[in-house]
Amino acid sequence: MFQNSKWIKASEYVNEGCYDFYKSIVLEKKPVKAILNITSLGLYRAHINGKRVGKEVLTPYWTEYKHRLQYQTYDVTDMLEKNNEISIVCAEGWAIGLFHTRPDHRTIFGDNPALIFELEIELEDGTKQIVVSDESVNVRSSHIVSSSIYNGETVDKTAEIRELGKAQHDAGVETNIVEQVGEKVLEQDIITPVSYFVTPKGERVIDFGQNFAGYVELTINGKHGDRVVLSHAEVLDKDGNFYTENLRTAKAQNTYVLSGEGTEVFKPSFTWQGFRYVRLDEYPFDDVDLSAFKGIVIHSDMKKTCDFVCGNDKINQLYHNIVWGQKSNFIDVPTDCPQRNERLGWTGDAQVFAKTAAINFDVERFFKKWLLDLAARQRECGAVDWFIPTDVYNWNEKYTSAAWGDAATICPWQMYMAYGNKEILETRFDSMKKWVDYIRSRGPEEYLWLGDRHFGDWLGMDNYDGSYDGATDKDYIASAYYAYSTSLVVKAGKVLGKDVSEYEKLYDNIVKAFKGKYFENGALTQNTQTACTLALFFDLCDDKKSVAEKLSQLVRDNGTRITTGFVGTPYIMHALSDNGYGDVAMDLLLQEKIPSWLYSVNHGATTMWEHWDGIREDGTFWSKDMNSYNHYAYGAVFDWMFENISGIRVLPDGAGYTHIQIKPIADRRLGFAKTQFDSRQGTIRTMWNYKGDFVHYEFEIPHGVTAEIVLPSITKTVTGGRYMFECKIK
Ligand code: BGC
Repeated sequence: MFQNSKWIKASEYVNEGCYDFYKSIVLEKKPVKAILNITSLGLYRAHINGKRVGKEVLTPYWTEYKHRLQYQTYDVTDMLEKNNEISIVCAEGWAIGLFHTRPDHRTIFGDNPALIFELEIELEDGTKQIVVSDESVNVRSSHIVSSSIYNGETVDKTAEIRELGKAQHDAGVETNIVEQVGEKVLEQDIITPVSYFVTPKGERVIDFGQNFAGYVELTINGKHGDRVVLSHAEVLDKDGNFYTENLRTAKAQNTYVLSGEGTEVFKPSFTWQGFRYVRLDEYPFDDVDLSAFKGIVIHSDMKKTCDFVCGNDKINQLYHNIVWGQKSNFIDVPTDCPQRNERLGWTGDAQVFAKTAAINFDVERFFKKWLLDLAARQRECGAVDWFIPTDVYNWNEKYTSAAWGDAATICPWQMYMAYGNKEILETRFDSMKKWVDYIRSRGPEEYLWLGDRHFGDWLGMDNYDGSYDGATDKDYIASAYYAYSTSLVVKAGKVLGKDVSEYEKLYDNIVKAFKGKYFENGALTQNTQTACTLALFFDLCDDKKSVAEKLSQLVRDNGTRITTGFVGTPYIMHALSDNGYGDVAMDLLLQEKIPSWLYSVNHGATTMWEHWDGIREDGTFWSKDMNSYNHYAYGAVFDWMFENISGIRVLPDGAGYTHIQIKPIADRRLGFAKTQFDSRQGTIRTMWNYKGDFVHYEFEIPHGVTAEIVLPSITKTVTGGRYMFECKIK
């Protein structure tokens, strides 16, 4: 691949604008097959004879560019004529542009995007014509006069297109070009605006009714030089004004300058925004015709695999918010949020949500690709960076954290349990071990992880005034995850038939050391919800009953409300319901006072908030620094809902849903629950509702699947088929 192609760049720097690399191609014979292979450092979009090639957005996507750069392949046979022009527009994107931790604009890849392509054309007489990127390619400026992921794009149809001479060969590009592993990112949905209004400050605002990631497509008929400037926001402030402070330095603003030649359609090509509201900062007309504005939703092309509905509208809205949190943040990489100057593949967020992600959508390819990047970036010593891909090249130990780096073990394991495909364990096993070995090498004690810097129970409410990090002891969290990750290495090794006796021994020693340090006379010495949760969920206590009782008491003492952050939240519900406190878990789910899942629902959320109190009861904001309204992490509660309300659980020996348990918990406050889940074995359906004094259940199990049905008065093992049961309410 790309044997005769050269990496090329523009010889002139056009300051944030896009370059158009173009070349004419004359075909003497009719083409029977034409394949275009292409990739870039920066983002690209290819056209042949003025028509766009493919429908993907943000190609070549985002990887550890130094180690892995994906190329894409397009069949362009039908696009070719006798005389052709291929044009490839390149933007700075992730690789070259202003992004996160880079102190200035420039990157290790230099100032300008670099491009490589190869167009192989088979002609009807059996001969081949191969067009490659080299110094014969011409370069011109483009109508996209600036483009930045965080700041947005300016498309100026009045801008003069300048010829920038021939492309230059760039011999210094160091990367590995690899096949596309991840899903395509596509425009997936169109959202029509629900209203237009003028705020108290006099701002003209369009409401799309849904927070999402993507952009606005504008259809407009105006005069030459007319300008449209669109700003984006997730929420309004308490007075109803447009609020952008939580975007921090991201301008998230798109500007269009009209050519005035009839009806024009504008949308950005190399950026996206996370938003519900759009402000018309400049707009040439007094009247606003809403039909001119379309919200275009983009995300990775993952198949939706779950439908859940129950008789409680607030819980249904919560599920809607969880799904939209995932859609908005699964754009090639699992990002923390789609709006502010971050949008990074934070490892902690990804591991917290991986199980839920794999219930809602088919994310096997998505995670396979991201985990390749994680492993490619894993440091020699085994440490895993805070976020993947990363641009932190001057790394030190500061850039890893317990519960974040554990994505190296947890994500492969969750993908294996969801899809039953051993390949993910086989290929990631070394990376999993390396992470555990890294922990083992840290600090003064071999069997505990003490002393390093961590995020802790990030955003936990029990130390809220003091810091972001929650009140749970960080060494405790780190050591608990050390045990958990080691247990996953042991499990994965056993699935693969490997000798893991060394890790079994290590695990026993960690558990012993953990119990020795954090229990006195059998009682847990730690007093936070998250500490109890981890001891229970990671199986780190001898007397589960007393820890569960303590956890339930802590929750009740806090008015049946959680205090947990990123570390405790994904597991607290399981820790309660798996240990006899299912009623407390259900009360937590249905809690509406702050902090709770339904608080944000009651406050109009259409996606998951980063903070339990992102908008306070009095309408003020928690903060402007760290306040996303589209952060999927707390949506991890759905894996509990799925296992306990839908009642569908993969059993330890049933990876890929081959052996499952069906154990739904009916609750009058939910009325009924109906779930359809497309597993790799086929569709699993569960439904329960109330009929007088009875709970009525209906289940559908795919052929080849063994299901253990556990109901209040019935226990039964079944295989594929449809089943109905009724249990009298006590
Ligand atoms: C991100 C989080 C992330 C965290 C690390 C934040 O800025 O938005 O979701 O996990 O940093 O603590």
